[in-house]
Amino acid sequence: MTRILALLLLAFAAPVSAQTADTTFMWWNPQQRTPNTMHSLIYEMTQRCMGIEGEPFGELRWYSADFVLRIIVVHPPERADSIVTERLGGLWIREPRMVVFDEERFNSPEVVAHELGHDVLRNGTGHDHDNPVFQRCQIGALAP
Ligand SMILES: [Zn+2]
Repeated sequence: MTRILALLLLAFAAPVSAQTADTTFMWWNPQQRTPNTMHSLIYEMTQRCMGIEGEPFGELRWYSADFVLRIIVVHPPERADSIVTERLGGLWIREPRMVVFDEERFNSPEVVAHELGHDVLRNGTGHDHDNPVFQRCQIGALAP
């Protein structure tokens, strides 16, 4: 629903080229977690699938939180700003190197594989999802 709303906002704001947007991420009540066997196995499989050796698994910090949100503030010209929020399953952060998951998705293999894909790739430019490596390993279309 929020994704549709965002698309509508983008579609009706004119001229499109003058519109800007700021994206931030927020989470509430983070709890540091210890990864389990599934997490380490997915990390190994992700490295093998991507053909990339990631940073040491044990140095990645793991958290779960009540909510993980992406907040987009759209600045259409000559209109009031619009705020769009989207609840995420998880989020990878480069520095400090960490992953934070919605507490209900901490043990979701799909969401974990997606965020660990970001960590192994370590591109972090926001274009990871378009990377052929992501596509090949079938993690590109999952949670942001
Ligand atoms: Zn992502």
